[in-house]
Amino acid sequence: MNAFEEKVRETTGRPLESLSLEVLQVNVGLACNQACHHCHLSSSPSREEMMDRETLSLVRDAATASRPLSVDITGGAPEMNPHLPWFIDEMAKSGIPLQLRSNLTALLDKGEDFARFLAERRVAIVASLPCYLEENVDSQRGQGVYRRSIEALQLLNSAGYGQNESLTLTLVYNPGGPFLPPPQEALEKDYRERLWEMFGIVFSRLITITNMPLGRFAEFLEKEGKKEQYMRLLRDAFNPATLDGLMCRRYLSVGWDGKLYDCDFNLALGLPIRASGISHIREFDPKLVEKREIVTGDHCFGCTAGAGSSCAGALV
Ligand code: SF4
Ligand code: SF4
Repeated sequence: MNAFEEKVRETTGRPLESLSLEVLQVNVGLACNQACHHCHLSSSPSREEMMDRETLSLVRDAATASRPLSVDITGGAPEMNPHLPWFIDEMAKSGIPLQLRSNLTALLDKGEDFARFLAERRVAIVASLPCYLEENVDSQRGQGVYRRSIEALQLLNSAGYGQNESLTLTLVYNPGGPFLPPPQEALEKDYRERLWEMFGIVFSRLITITNMPLGRFAEFLEKEGKKEQYMRLLRDAFNPATLDGLMCRRYLSVGWDGKLYDCDFNLALGLPIRASGISHIREFDPKLVEKREIVTGDHCFGCTAGAGSSCAGALV
């Protein structure tokens, strides 16, 4: 039994189990036009893993059969998958709310027509912007990323995003190093004021996500000799109130090759779901994945530290 599982059992008397399937998250590929220092998937322009159209069709079929509250498209940079517009069109026909996680620069590369395409299909955008200051964004995500991200946000605003409730634009903050995010609400206020004052940018909400000790961020921690210190910080900040909201309890994550995971972090580690007879989206059965025991590890302390963390932001 790993330390996280022990902690969960000690707190609740039970292993961590899924509750329902509310979000079907689909990782359409590991290729990315950026190579950020904190990336838990170690995505970069040299990664070639990409979901093909056949697998995307299986995801569509699983979503229409199970009717989750939303389908959440992630990567890598999802915009680099050539089948993305087709998939979005297919999902739009189903009427299931769709969300696209974007690093902004890949969206900018696709241009104005793509922003309009997303707006017409009411695709919610969740966009990474780890700070409102240029220096901090560029040092984490690469030279010039801040300027291009601002340009992309302006493009999204002009397509209607962040201006009304039907076109939501959520910004994502993650810390610039091995520390926990500040309180989400106060940070949102700062972002709102600064982005408006500096660029006239508006957005719907801001969420904070903790850096997971995985992928390139884990390599950075090892190199700096800070891995154990960071793990201790996460373990010491364990907050039992976050357990109910852990995303793995309501999400199912589909990898680029169709394999199923409890979350994108388990995907990064290659830890498949534990559900009898099901490991690939082609075997999907909503009843069997709904009540499953979650596969955990020490990295899970990243989700339960402080206010908690998930793809939808802080948990408490
Ligand atoms: S963090 Fe996001 S934008 Fe950065 S390399 Fe990873 S997938 Fe790409
Ligand atoms: S890392 Fe994944 S499995 Fe572990 S607690 Fe977080 S969401 Fe759940």
